[in-house]
Order: sequence, then structure tokens, then C-alpha cells
Amino acid sequence: MSNSKPPRVIPVHDQRQSAHPMPPANTHGGPSLTTLPMDRLGRPLRDLRISVTDRCNFRCSYCMPKEVFDKDYQYLPQSALLSFEEIVQVAREFVGLGVQKIRLTGGEPLLRKNLELLIAQLAVLRTPQGQPLDITLTTNGALLARKAKALRDAGLQRVTVSLDGLDDGVFRQMNDVDFPVSEVLKGIEAAQAAGLGPIKVNMVVKRGTNDHEILAMARHFRGTGIVLRFIEYMDVGATNGWRMDEVLPSAQVVERLQTEFALVPLEAFAPGETAQRWAYADAQGKPDAHAGEIGVISSVTQAFCGDCNRARLSTEGQLYLCLFASRGYDLRSLLRGGASANDLAGSIRAIWAQRDDRYSMLRASLPASDVAAPGRRVEMSYIGG
Ligand code: SAM
Ligand code: SF4
Ligand code: SF4
Repeated sequence: MSNSKPPRVIPVHDQRQSAHPMPPANTHGGPSLTTLPMDRLGRPLRDLRISVTDRCNFRCSYCMPKEVFDKDYQYLPQSALLSFEEIVQVAREFVGLGVQKIRLTGGEPLLRKNLELLIAQLAVLRTPQGQPLDITLTTNGALLARKAKALRDAGLQRVTVSLDGLDDGVFRQMNDVDFPVSEVLKGIEAAQAAGLGPIKVNMVVKRGTNDHEILAMARHFRGTGIVLRFIEYMDVGATNGWRMDEVLPSAQVVERLQTEFALVPLEAFAPGETAQRWAYADAQGKPDAHAGEIGVISSVTQAFCGDCNRARLSTEGQLYLCLFASRGYDLRSLLRGGASANDLAGSIRAIWAQRDDRYSMLRASLPASDVAAPGRRVEMSYIGG
């Protein structure tokens, strides 16, 4: 009898083409302060994440495992991608309906050609109250040293950089393309120099792979003005072979940090915020502004669906209402079918009004086979993190 372990990587089942039927557009009222849509759980729409490419120059095993995303993998053709004009058209309607924050993501967003032209077009949008948007971008940092200044000049305000360890060997193993950590650190410096702050650094913690880097990461970023956030490894997508025993609960991350640093809890900045914030404490046990703060994102062990105000627009214009959804709503067909701005806004309003997604809250009560759910959920590289 063989002792070999079962395969950890599950072949991808392509869900990109099947969409939910579009509900009838709700075009009453028009976008105004009094008609901001709430979903069925009373949650407003505030945060739009836009995936600008499904491609990436890394192969993080928790996101785009090499065995699946290999040279034969069929990425979307250029014609399937939303153009910048189409993205701005959709974004404008979302902003009219209450979105205040736009995050560009992917895949690796810095691989999208001329991204700064899109940023410049988004930067001129205004909320119904006349406020500029909070525009940010999540990147693996590989191209950031080269692009930080142009991004800032185009109107990007801040960046979040994903970095899973400081040890070069661990980092190369996690990105799985042998990319050196020094280049990402240079990218973070360039972003700081360009004024793309406050910078956040996200570390996905995988027990047994990079959890021994937690303290080194905290030491490195403490007192730099950069907010380090530890993310629980999630069962997102269907290809990463996720297992609960590889999740290090955030409570344990905090315990490990407290072996070296005194921490005090901080209030959330805003409803819908994903991270629980902790400040480094001074000698009096008060938040030490100079040392800064860290965050933990407990997507698995402590669901935060209750005030989730995020929607995601995939690379090809499908609207997803949850990171764990298996189907989106095809806004691209509306756009390319000549829908008016009013119709587009009406469809978005109707889609949001019927939203009841709360996967993380339900996870614990789902059968184990549904949590592993091979082949049912879309990949994070497609809808964006
Ligand atoms: N390529 C960019 C990057 O890595 O920052 C943007 C896209 S990536 C999908 C967005 C975020 O999702 C990253 O911070 C990444 O670490 C996180 N992520 C991807 N797969 C994850 C998983 N299985 N669990 C937790 N976070 C994950
Ligand atoms: Fe690429 Fe980001 Fe996914 Fe890593 S997490 S494979 S960098 S998209
Ligand atoms: Fe939002 Fe879905 Fe995540 Fe819950 S599981 S916080 S609804 S994206």
C-alpha cells in the first residue's frame, strides 16, 4: 500500500462563463443621497474592487498554483477584458450609488499596460457629495520600484503590498517563481518615496510555511509608518488545496507578537473594515504613535460578513457580491449591448438589493465537502482580492 499523500492541488473548473440571470433593473429614483441601496442584510455598498488582469508574474501556491496556472492555462483574451473606458463607465455608476473607495487588483494589476491612464480617469470621479474617491491598489510589489512615481502622478493615493516573508528563501518558495525579496522591499521604498501612503503590507500566514516569519516581519516594519497586516490563509477559489490545519488563527498571531511586543487594541476606522487593529504600546501601556500599528484579518476564524460593504468587478466585467461566490452578474453584456447610464445604475441597484451573501458566517455550519468545494468557486486571481 502506498503512503503517498493525496494530491494537494485541484484542477481548475472554469466557472468564468456562467453568470446569474440579470434581475430587472430598478431605475426608480436615480442616484441620489436618499436612494443608496442596502442589500437584504442591511449592508450599504461602499467599496468596489476592480480586477484589471487575470495574469500574474508570481505563482503563490495559495492563489495561483503552478500546477494549474501553467503554460497551457487559458487566460482571458484581450477582447474579453473590460477596456479602461468600460471600467470608468461602470465605476462612475457605482460611485453615484455610494461607492467611496476603489481598489485596483488582479492578478497582478501592474501587469496591465498603461494602468496609470485608468487611474487618472478614476481620480477625477466625485461622490454625489462632491468628494474625491479613495483610490488604492494591491500589488505583489515586483514592478513597484519602476512604477511608483507614475502611479502617484496619475492620482493613486496609496498602495497595499503583499509580502509573505523577509527571508529570501521563504519568499522565493511562497512566490514560486524564485523572485527575490530585495526587489519587493525596493518597491516599498519607492512607494514611500513617491508619497503613496500610508502603505499597508499584507502577509498571508500559512502554518508550517511562513509562520516563523511573523516576528521578523513585525520587527522590520515597526516604526516605519507602514501598517503590517496578517491575513489568515483562506479557502478562496478551488485550486489551492486549502486545509484548515494550515490556517494559523489570528488570535495565535497576536499571542506570538505579544511574546515580544506590548500591544493595545484600537477601534476600527470605519464600518466594514476587515482588519482588527492593534497598536504597539508605550511604557504607560498607551498606543505609541511612533511605533505604529499592526492588523489581523481573521477571514476564517472570525467572520466579518455582518458589515461587508464590498463588491468585486472581474477582469471581464462580471460583478461578484462575495469573494466566495461561484457566479457573477454580467455587466459587460449590458455595457456592450448599449445600456444607458441609468439602466446600468438600475441593474447595479437591483443586483445589490437582492444580495444576501455571507459565506464566512456560514462556513462553520457547512459540510466539510462544501468548504473544500472543488470546482465551484471562482479564483481570487480572476475576481481580485
Ligand atoms: N497580485 C496582487 C497581490 O498579490 O497583492 C493582487 C491580487 S491578490 C489576489 C490580492 C490579495 O489576496 C493578496 O494580498 C494575496 O496575498 C491575497 N490572497 C490570495 N490568495 C489568498 C488566500 N488563499 N488566502 C488569503 N489571502 C489570499
Ligand atoms: Fe499573483 Fe497576487 Fe495571486 Fe500571488 S496572490 S499569485 S501575486 S495574484
Ligand atoms: Fe464579504 Fe463574502 Fe467575505 Fe463575508 S465571505 S466578508 S460576504 S466577501
